[in-house]
Amino acid sequence: MEKSSPCATGLPNVRAVVSRAPGFVCLLRRGSLAAGLFIFLVAMAVAPARGATYVVKRGDSLWSVAQKHGTTVSELADRNGLSRSGHLYVGQRLKLPGAKAKAALPENIQRAIDQAPVRTARWRYIVIHHSGVDRGDMKSMDQYHRTQRHMENGLAYHFVIGNGDGMRDGEIGVAPRWTKQLAGGHLASEAQNNIAIGICLVGNFDRRPPSAKQMQSLRLVVDALRKRCKLNLKAVKTHQQINVVHTRCPGAKFPSKSLQKLLGP
Ligand SMILES: [Zn+2]
Repeated sequence: MEKSSPCATGLPNVRAVVSRAPGFVCLLRRGSLAAGLFIFLVAMAVAPARGATYVVKRGDSLWSVAQKHGTTVSELADRNGLSRSGHLYVGQRLKLPGAKAKAALPENIQRAIDQAPVRTARWRYIVIHHSGVDRGDMKSMDQYHRTQRHMENGLAYHFVIGNGDGMRDGEIGVAPRWTKQLAGGHLASEAQNNIAIGICLVGNFDRRPPSAKQMQSLRLVVDALRKRCKLNLKAVKTHQQINVVHTRCPGAKFPSKSLQKLLGP
């Protein structure tokens, strides 16, 4: 049985070959296994759109545009260097203040989360880990878990989020344990592994905190998983918060205390 928690001692510093694609193009990685072919699905979260604009239509006023976009006349006027009583013309482009589109999960990751055959009430927790080492990617972790930890299902987590060294910063990887809905191998107890989805952020957060992009991707993945598995925020724990034996994972510099707030609405 797979019981060990692989992040406890970290992973070898393996420099594996990782394809790099521009933007948020989906990459398919294949590795051969005794059990057959498996695929790691990875993608970047879509960066928030900056400088969203609105094109003025007939009948619009600063007030109506502000109302429509959840802002005020003065904010809208200031952002565009207009007076509050200024007239708009049809076709005028207005910059929308604070109109940062919400970051979104890449479609292929959202699909992988939505389409996995999740049984009702299968998952009770979402548990966050760090890898404990500065660099890593899904393939090297998978190999380590197979060869050193003797885990027949390989990569112990359901999701991995890269830190720019091995995988791109904030890159999200969906592991076969999620797509096949297998128990995790990331906690010390088998009972917990059966009900806990494992997300591993690459990095040693005893040394430095996770990157902003990693935290953004974590929030997006956790949101989607909570919806899919009907879990509330209290179901989201760090490894240290849930483990039956003491662990430092995910490190002293991971924002464990403010986690619920960071991941909340
Ligand atoms: Zn851990």
